[in-house]
Amino acid sequence: MQRKDWDTYFMDIAFMASTRSQCGRRHVGAVLVQGKKLLGTAYNGAPMGVPDCSEAGCMLVEEYEVKKTDVGEELVKKQRCVRTIHAEQNLLLFTDREDREGSTVYVTDQPCWTCANMLANSGVTEIVFHRAYPKDSEKVEALMKARGISFRRIGAYEPPPGTITEVTQ
Ligand SMILES: [Zn+2]
Ligand SMILES: [Zn+2]
Repeated sequence: MQRKDWDTYFMDIAFMASTRSQCGRRHVGAVLVQGKKLLGTAYNGAPMGVPDCSEAGCMLVEEYEVKKTDVGEELVKKQRCVRTIHAEQNLLLFTDREDREGSTVYVTDQPCWTCANMLANSGVTEIVFHRAYPKDSEKVEALMKARGISFRRIGAYEPPPGTITEVTQ
């Protein structure tokens, strides 16, 4: 068996972390890596000690999103669960600033705008993700460029067996 490269190794760990999530809509995992050393793992979840999505159900909000189509733009109504703290935010809450300086974050999903904004101010200098999140992609990419943060997707990648749960979008 071929030895795993570092990207695959750390992305696999991010997908393992995502299996801890109890949100029925989205399972996201993130890990902090500094100089090939794993310094933190996180997933999306409710704050400690309060009922999570599996116990209390998702806390859904409806939002309108602008969707680009062939003929222009269209408003589509979307539901989103706001019960959980996102994996990237939990990662920042549970790691030290000095461990983040010059570090890489591997995250199963492309960060949303809020997470990207926080990561941009966290000391992290590289973000690697697998699943795309087109909604915020454009402004997140512009932010990372402006901030000089390496932002890349590993597309040709197969998550470890059993780490993908079918979730409703
Ligand atoms: Zn949820
Ligand atoms: Zn987020």
